[in-house]
Amino acid sequence: MSTYQKLVVVRSSNDLRAATEIHEAPIPQPEAGHIVVQTRYSGVNAADYLMAAGRYLAPTPPPYDLGAESVGVVAAVGEGVSYFKEGDAVFAIGGGYREYFTVPASHAIPLPAATPDMVTIGVSGLTASIALEKVGEMTSGETVLVTAAAGGTGSFAVQLASLAGNHVIGTCSSADKAAFLRSIGCHRPVNYKDESLSEVLKAEYRKGIDIAFESVGGKLYDIALNALAVKGRLIVIGAISEYESGPQEVTRVRDSYKLLNKSASIRGFWLMHYLRDVPEHAARLLALIAEGKLQATYDPTTFKGVAGALDAIEYMYSGRNIGKVIVSF
Ligand code: NAP
Repeated sequence: MSTYQKLVVVRSSNDLRAATEIHEAPIPQPEAGHIVVQTRYSGVNAADYLMAAGRYLAPTPPPYDLGAESVGVVAAVGEGVSYFKEGDAVFAIGGGYREYFTVPASHAIPLPAATPDMVTIGVSGLTASIALEKVGEMTSGETVLVTAAAGGTGSFAVQLASLAGNHVIGTCSSADKAAFLRSIGCHRPVNYKDESLSEVLKAEYRKGIDIAFESVGGKLYDIALNALAVKGRLIVIGAISEYESGPQEVTRVRDSYKLLNKSASIRGFWLMHYLRDVPEHAARLLALIAEGKLQATYDPTTFKGVAGALDAIEYMYSGRNIGKVIVSF
């Protein structure tokens, strides 16, 4: 086989199937300092939809490859690469819905094995770990609210906040997800289909929320902001409930008035601004998993190959996933 398949955004569209095409390309040869990786598993991210729609944070005009991260095995090494050899398992941000990808060897993270759980530590695990520490200034003994808590990113945030000795509240949309959240150390799952998050916070958390790891946007953002404690930090991770419709416009008193009398803050986080922290946090996550302290959860629903990637993204947007959605190759 001398060619491979990849998923390419050919026109910006909110309709994933209109936006993308499967293209065939020659299997790359590694440049000096690079490795060629054969993909085993790709991670699905909420941002994939925005990328296809041309509405991601740093949009470029099509065509461009879709997908953000993969686990695979090294198929070839370029000149000057001594750290990796053929057959080694690696993770890389930059791989995507493609059977092969090239990456600078210095950007690849060595893994114990190219298994599906390893994809979860990528964009999801790293975002939770770096954002809570660097942006949330997480310590212990605080109250942490995680939204989309049973998803790929949220399930890491729940566990890391709980492991650090914090009290964790996690939002989700089903009883199965609430049970999963309890199993990973969430002290107070809130199934927002059954109970009102704002009522729960008012009744059970009078002092408020010290850290909100907020990735749903819309109403949940408003509730998290209103519930901040004195010196509370709201980390804006994303706004998935607004991705399909586009950003919601609101008319109300400026958020600054809600922050001032609490010395609270709203802080943004985008993983691409923290790439320097990736090796250290990836090593920490891998160690916690190896010690059995951290569960790398991926959804068991199977999506296969480049052709399965769009089904996988749509599945995530249906809100049914527990843990990370992955595509296997
Ligand atoms: P995920 O959490 O595995 O899956 C998405 C989850 O969002 C769903 O399972 C669903 O859980 C919840 N959700 C709530 N409202 C929704 C709606 N209207 N439509 C669809 N889903 C909804 O996905 P993920 O990739 O880990 O991303 C989660 C969030 O983190 C996204 O906002 C994403 O952009 C953000 N993120 C940001 C960064 C960064 O660098 N800033 C990095 C990674 C992820 P429930 O139904 O249980 O609520």
